[in-house]
Amino acid sequence: MSSAVEGAPAVLARVPSGMHINGEWVAALDGEEFETLDPATGRVIARVPRARAGDVARAVAAAREAFDGGRWGESVSARDRARILHRMSDLVRERRDELVEIEILDCGKPLADARGDIDEVAFMFEYYAGWATKIAGDIPPVGTDALSLVVREPVGVCGLIVPWNYPMLMAAQKVAPALATGCTVVLKPAEQTPLTALCMAAIAEEAGLPAGVLNVVTGFGVEAGEPMLTDERVDKISFTGSLAVGRHIQRTCADQLKRVTLELGGKSPNIIFGDAPLDDAIVGSAAGIFGNQGEVCSAGSRIFVHSSVYDRVLEGMVAEAGAIRLGSGLDESTTMGPLVSARQRDRVMAYVDGAPADGARHVFSGAMPESDEFADGFFVAPSVFEVPDHSPAIAREEIFGPVATVLRFDEVEEVVRLANQTEYGLAAAIWTRDINLALNTARRVRAGVVWINDSQPAPSESLWGGYKQSGVGRELGPYALDAYLETKQIYVNLGG
Ligand code: NAP
Ligand code: MG
Repeated sequence: MSSAVEGAPAVLARVPSGMHINGEWVAALDGEEFETLDPATGRVIARVPRARAGDVARAVAAAREAFDGGRWGESVSARDRARILHRMSDLVRERRDELVEIEILDCGKPLADARGDIDEVAFMFEYYAGWATKIAGDIPPVGTDALSLVVREPVGVCGLIVPWNYPMLMAAQKVAPALATGCTVVLKPAEQTPLTALCMAAIAEEAGLPAGVLNVVTGFGVEAGEPMLTDERVDKISFTGSLAVGRHIQRTCADQLKRVTLELGGKSPNIIFGDAPLDDAIVGSAAGIFGNQGEVCSAGSRIFVHSSVYDRVLEGMVAEAGAIRLGSGLDESTTMGPLVSARQRDRVMAYVDGAPADGARHVFSGAMPESDEFADGFFVAPSVFEVPDHSPAIAREEIFGPVATVLRFDEVEEVVRLANQTEYGLAAAIWTRDINLALNTARRVRAGVVWINDSQPAPSESLWGGYKQSGVGRELGPYALDAYLETKQIYVNLGG
């Protein structure tokens, strides 16, 4: 049995039917389902359970029981946790091609991007498998007549809520460190992209993860996410998504002082200085806003260009946008897929259509896919706008689509001030051959991630997270472990 509807692409037979609660594949208590679409064609491809409060309560109870009853966490040796995470990594690699295809059918991204995502998912499980056996405490010196032991313990039951732009990768980014530390989990994928989260649960089951440790509830934010925020049996919420929902989560979780990690949006500056390696800067800056259809929290959407190279960069951005080929992500020659949903397409088009009246100059828009097959898909052609400052909405607000805004600058002071002129602080890119200028600027930009002569790499071994209203806490690398650990002092009196 699978979630796929009749006539759906064959690979979808690999997606289990039902959601995963306490080691079982179950329907919603009221039997309701919702549809998931292929954004390239607008066609329904699968039906999944529509979880509501009662279903979430079952999943939370299972995770609580698995944690308290000793099926995971400190009752299972770190070695055993590592072994299962390694096995999950192996299974992701074995199933790479089918996971790539399922991810593309669900969210639309091109093959190269989806392959990158799934490879990183495999690595993520491998990387945190390594950490499981290396989470150690400390023995601070407190004198000769006492021993103070600082130990790290899993925070408990974690509600993990993820968005649709990197569905399996965003899920793995939370699930892998949570399992490595010994937490148990209820994962809620985005309503638009539930399929690879279900595949992850199937992989975990096959890898030998005990029942109840990783539960997946499919559904809508208010119905399947919200109940986790108020359930006293949930110790921690880790959320990736929009600023508006992030604020709501922080506020709601404050009532129980639940631990919260938030990875939110951005309006990231991409600064091209006059001495930048220009060809690289143009290609990299274009990839930084057009990659993954611009549906990237760290997209370099504000492109600041020094006057001395402004015309060349603008021309280069137009050429890059013009070379992009829209189509089905499954087609090897496609370089940009559809946006995830009709709603997201309409949202982005409202920004594009409204920009000229708002003070932005429309410089260029790319070509839409030609084939009739895609007439009902959610495509948006890449576009380039010139803006005089931050007054047009497209220069200030997160669009989450392939819309580049180019701004001119003359002075370093000026560009640093403009770069920081945003409520966000997720990422920034700086292009220059001058090492002092690069590092000085990197230090002055208020953002959690700064790239020099590159844009968008996010190696799992390093760090991710935002300053200001781009988030709370950090993910990736060893930093993610802190999000799933409590720290305890055990004091032993040796003096009698
Ligand atoms: P969203 O609307 O905030 O949704 C994200 C997730 O939260 C979805 O699973 C959603 O469920 C759920 N949700 C919605 N309302 C909820 C509630 N009241 N309680 C609990 N859960 C709730 O964001 P999105 O539009 O899907 O994703 C785009 C945003 O994510 C962008 O702003 C982007 O910048 C951000 N993002 C950030 C990062 C990062 O690392 N910083 C990475 C990727 C994306 P439904 O799907 O049912 O609505
Ligand atoms: Mg979908």
